[in-house]
Amino acid sequence: MEINCPRCAIALVSPGGGPPWCPACEWNLDAYDERRPPELGWRWLDRRAHRLAYRLTMARHAELHADPARPMPGGGRTRVVLLVASVLLLAVIAGIVVLGAWIVIATWLSLATVFGVLLLLIAYAVRPRLGRLDRDADRLDEMTAPTLFALLRRVADATGAPMPDVVEVDAVLNASAATIGLRRTRVLRLGLPLWAVLTPQERVALLGHELGHFVNGDTRRGALTGVATRTFGELALLLRPGPPAGDTLVMMIADLITRAILRVLCTGAVAVHVLLVWLSMRDGQHAEYLADDLAARAAGTTAAVSFLDLLCRAETLDMIVRRDARAGLEPPLWRASVDELRAADPVVRQRAIRQEVSMFAGHPPSGLRARLIEARAPHAPAVVLAESDDASIDAELAKRYAVARREIAIGG
Ligand SMILES: [Zn+2]
Ligand SMILES: [Zn+2]
Repeated sequence: MEINCPRCAIALVSPGGGPPWCPACEWNLDAYDERRPPELGWRWLDRRAHRLAYRLTMARHAELHADPARPMPGGGRTRVVLLVASVLLLAVIAGIVVLGAWIVIATWLSLATVFGVLLLLIAYAVRPRLGRLDRDADRLDEMTAPTLFALLRRVADATGAPMPDVVEVDAVLNASAATIGLRRTRVLRLGLPLWAVLTPQERVALLGHELGHFVNGDTRRGALTGVATRTFGELALLLRPGPPAGDTLVMMIADLITRAILRVLCTGAVAVHVLLVWLSMRDGQHAEYLADDLAARAAGTTAAVSFLDLLCRAETLDMIVRRDARAGLEPPLWRASVDELRAADPVVRQRAIRQEVSMFAGHPPSGLRARLIEARAPHAPAVVLAESDDASIDAELAKRYAVARREIAIGG
């Protein structure tokens, strides 16, 4: 039986099961909000943050969709506000350190010393984050992965981006680019499961997007402008309450009290974070869409879009990757298993948009990103990855693939 939307009378949909919703006016699509994994741990806060994020994200997208060639605002108010917030944060932290150290020295070995130590601990917890190189990360070099580095160089040339200083791989279904530390080291991190399932041109699109991060003028990633947003975001996640602990009465009461305190602190951190994100989201999302434009220029519009349509089904993708890993299939064979997920489906995109929107997300939802690439003038690929080179890259990664496969298979 077909059910129609109570508002606009068109047929409701529910791709892949779940409550039916209206693809025209999104009636009942919010039923899926309940299924999102908790981010902060309190429903009411999560729900509000999600709604706000949804509004902001859609507004930004609508603006750019109407004018896809719009350049980054650059400089401007956001940068100034973020700079001021970051400098204030640094000043407050410096103040706490000085005060804490002074109390410790002045009251050495008395009861007040504890207070000084406490202040120093607080300063440590809110220390500014510039990011740090992961010493244990598995790094690639040009000697062992020459074809991959040659490809990176071609994509860098096509996008006008500099080469990354460090290329790391891990077993996560994701990829990222970051500029970290005081020396501003450019780090590209490739998750092997994601890399493995992508077609040659989608791999170029992924690299185009990530390298694009080194040139898209993202204020969230600036050494100083990024300090405030990163710090409060990490703080909010750090302070969110864990699962209830303890089975004795004393432990349960202690748990309740800590929860109440954490709730206040976390709400405060979230409030500041939301404010800063709200400020930087406009520019940040714009920067992401620009990185997508670079991806489309490097890989061609078709591949950039199919890459994002694949990401719209991240949950299924994740499931298939785990299944194949457990079945003992080596990663290069996973690509064929996810083929049917590449098809563009406006309804899947729409649901994924609602699902992916978040105050804590680095990216706008994949569905919106795909829509914006389609709204721009189409690009032919500037970098074509030949099947033979693609196979050489897989061969260069073979040992790492095997390690990643085992890690995923064990991870469940
Ligand atoms: Zn409707
Ligand atoms: Zn990005």
